[in-house]
Amino acid sequence: MATDSNCLFCKIVAGQIPNDTVYETDTVLAFRDITPRANVHALVIPKSHEDTLGQMAADDPAGVAELFTAAREVARLEGIEESGYRVVSNVGPDAGQEVFHVHVHVLGAQELGPVGPGRG
Ligand code: 5GP
Ligand code: ZN
Repeated sequence: MATDSNCLFCKIVAGQIPNDTVYETDTVLAFRDITPRANVHALVIPKSHEDTLGQMAADDPAGVAELFTAAREVARLEGIEESGYRVVSNVGPDAGQEVFHVHVHVLGAQELGPVGPGRG
């Protein structure tokens, strides 16, 4: 399993920084975002370090699929599978990616409005 000692989410995986876990498997961890932007806002991450979803899609497509399966499980556990939810990942600077350890956001428990800022 790849790990980066300077990476915030690797520290969360290692238990060095506490987290509010929603769901966990051998390979995936889901926990509540520290700054929730919706009534439900969880992050789903691979336990193994990868910088971006784009890179992971090339290196480990089966691992990407596990993230989306886990996102669905988070939605089920949070009771928003029927009401609907959004799964989104920021990749790189224009998307505002802050943490360079792959994560997908799971947002829901309210109407979420349109995706994105519109054209700049
Ligand atoms: P990004 O902008 O990279 O897509 O998302 C990073 C997310 O990580 C942000 O929504 C931010 O609130 C969240 N975050 C940053 N630091 C922490 C932390 O220490 N714990 C948790 N649970 N979330 C964090
Ligand atoms: Zn990491």
